[in-house]
Amino acid sequence: MVGIVLVSHSAKLADGVAELAREMGGADVSLEPVGGLDLPDRPVGTDAVLVHQAIERVWSDDGVLVLMDLGSAVLSTEMAVEMLPEDRRGRVLLCEAPFVEGAIAAAVAARVGRSLGEVAEEARGGLAPKADHLGVPSAPPIGARAEPEKAPGAAVEELTIRLSIENPLGLHARAAARLVQAAAAFEADVRVTNLTTGRGPAGARSLNAIGTLGVLQGQEIEVAATGPHATEVLEAIRALAAEGFGDLSTESAAAIETPPPVVEIELIEGMLVGLPASPGVAVGPVRHFVTTDIELPPGPAAEPAEEWAALEKAIEGAVVEIRSTRDAVADRAGRQAAAIFEAHELFLRDEELLAPARKAIFEEGRGAGRAWRSAVERVAESWRALEDPYLRARAADVEAVGRQVLAHLTGAAGAKLSLAGPGVLVARDLTPADTAGLDPDVVFGVATALGGPTSHSAVLARSLGIPAVVGLGSQILEVQDGTTVVIDGFSGTVLPNPDAEQIAGAQSSAEAFRSSEAAARAEASEPSVTLDGTPVEVAANIGRPEDAIAAVAAGAESVGLLRTEFLFIGRDRLPGEEEQEAAYRQIAEVLGGRPMILRTLDVGGDKPLPYLPMPHEANPFLGVRGLRLSLTRPEVLRTQLRAALRVAADHPVRVMFPMVTTLEELMDAKTIVEEARSDVEAAGGRTPEQLEMGIMVEIPAAALSAATFAPHVQFFSIGTNDLAQYALAAERGNERVAGLADALHPAVLRLVRATAAAAEPLDLMVGVCGELAADTLAVPLLLALGVRELSASSPAIPRIKRAVRSVDLRTAREVAEQALELDSAAAVRALATSAFAH
Ligand code: PEP
Ligand code: MG
Repeated sequence: MVGIVLVSHSAKLADGVAELAREMGGADVSLEPVGGLDLPDRPVGTDAVLVHQAIERVWSDDGVLVLMDLGSAVLSTEMAVEMLPEDRRGRVLLCEAPFVEGAIAAAVAARVGRSLGEVAEEARGGLAPKADHLGVPSAPPIGARAEPEKAPGAAVEELTIRLSIENPLGLHARAAARLVQAAAAFEADVRVTNLTTGRGPAGARSLNAIGTLGVLQGQEIEVAATGPHATEVLEAIRALAAEGFGDLSTESAAAIETPPPVVEIELIEGMLVGLPASPGVAVGPVRHFVTTDIELPPGPAAEPAEEWAALEKAIEGAVVEIRSTRDAVADRAGRQAAAIFEAHELFLRDEELLAPARKAIFEEGRGAGRAWRSAVERVAESWRALEDPYLRARAADVEAVGRQVLAHLTGAAGAKLSLAGPGVLVARDLTPADTAGLDPDVVFGVATALGGPTSHSAVLARSLGIPAVVGLGSQILEVQDGTTVVIDGFSGTVLPNPDAEQIAGAQSSAEAFRSSEAAARAEASEPSVTLDGTPVEVAANIGRPEDAIAAVAAGAESVGLLRTEFLFIGRDRLPGEEEQEAAYRQIAEVLGGRPMILRTLDVGGDKPLPYLPMPHEANPFLGVRGLRLSLTRPEVLRTQLRAALRVAADHPVRVMFPMVTTLEELMDAKTIVEEARSDVEAAGGRTPEQLEMGIMVEIPAAALSAATFAPHVQFFSIGTNDLAQYALAAERGNERVAGLADALHPAVLRLVRATAAAAEPLDLMVGVCGELAADTLAVPLLLALGVRELSASSPAIPRIKRAVRSVDLRTAREVAEQALELDSAAAVRALATSAFAH
């Protein structure tokens, strides 16, 4: 919290103003009055030493705002600042705001956690209500932006950076929340413009303002900053963007971010069809959950200061509640699932909500509840006006936190979601907080009339393992309380009044799914060995350092694919050798001796980097990607390899090249490895005696010529995502050909077999690191064809290990032989289902 020092010639005046400010801001505002001289016979005057001590007493890294009455108070304060250690001086702001009104406004702003610049801005606007009342022009009005403070040597001109947003959901609520948090940590005025749509600029202090820019994946934003820490704040935002704004990498997030695929439904009379939101099947009586509107007390509003204090108290109450929900969800379902509650807290600190509520209370004399409710409605409306359905859905989040505050304000808080008994919870919609409070032992399933599969409630239901169907329409609300239903989170259906046979069928599939997931998690740390004793390494695909923690927790024996793109994407210059070394080393340390395959940079025509300009390509997937690109920029590859070699001197790190087509490419890459090794050694660094190297087999030519590569590598890792796209000529991201791009196609399986056959005489390890490795139906076939390492996103690891343990290789080989003779992926799936699905 920003500290406040009130310097007056009179100790009595300073004390009195402090008393008033505490009355408004709350007793725990960090505030120190200082006045008079430290001499018994000189009660009036100012003393630099006393001011210095007062600053030290309220010091925090958030900074200190000093308000002074007149003349020598300013001089004494300047001297007091001189007495501070140099690194603290820049965080003390001497403010010209009116002494009394400024102190009160500053106390209120400091208390809600606003930054130093914002607290000063509030103080300066302290005269506005009085001036308005008297009908005279005033200093900047409440909420108006003041020029940022200028510190010696600070950037006064505007600095800008451009970032392209790679997050699959764009700058959604959690990502925007992280940007707002990063911006708030610096003394700078930060504004963001969506360059692609032209929307903006929006102040980075406001989550609502940033969120409603509607920034989607692939769009470009400009971040502009002025003020003392303009450079630093832009660096911090750049780094945050490079980390995907704190989102998990696509693969780790996929398990909870991605709704289950829509499966074909066998329609039964009376069945309600919605969208599958969380997998699993459940049977139970309907339990309606109804949210009643919160009644606001009738009657006139109290004094504005009283109403404002009540609202602040309610906000603080809601913040405490949100934090405890966040911690509970993080414990149960992980940090990613809990991140939405950070955004919820930011909503409550957001000036876009607070300023209109404050204005309505102080200037229009409205009560806290009504002022707050209309501010919430207005902000929710601006989210609802966005085109993107995901961002539009954030209106519900704003309304949810708004409601939490109203519940605290009216004493309705504490009325938690409660059910008449165990069953399937039916609601119009659920807030994330409601969903987070669900107990899977009592709530067997969730069925809602509204909501989409990417809503935070759906994400939370997935992470809590509760089957859920959303978007069922109002019909679901008409199903009587107590009616037995079957809820199917795979097909997205709800069947009221099932017959005995339907109930038995649902119960057995529910049980089968639940027990297999639970058993898989329980045995996740056990090794994975087939029934006939063949060990199989189950590894993790990771896309950033944090994923390594999740990989170890999920039971990964190694990292089969480190996608190093995380260090290169979302920034405007190359990461240096040291930065790369630090990142790779950090991951290796988390892995604690488990081996890791580091894939060199795999970008190109489809994933362009602004600092590696490339000519436009009509068919980027067939253009200069992966190793092809690295060989056109050997210095980039050489830098990355130097970092990898330094880490490999201390940890079991292997290097893998992506998108290799010809032996010549591999040999060129190996030459660069040797050059990098000489560079490191010449600089006095250490390198491993032997660096194990391999290639991704993801181009049909490489699979068919695997024997020519085999003598020059230590392993092959098959990238079935690209291998399927090239073998089947079906672009991997194009949903119109998604049905064709199934990697279980016999043609792809033949390429897997060709690769394994070439590896066998030299006893090379063959792995699969494409999505097919996570398909439990494919696991027996891949092992039968000679694959001995399966690498996938962490959430899939327990399931894969469990699948491996039930493989009998002899039977699997027989089935694989038949599969290779079939003519479609669908036929292979049908065969594998009948042979392996129990
Ligand atoms: C693949 O192509 O299967 C693979 C694992 O690489 P990426 O998905 O990163 O292209
Ligand atoms: Mg690939």
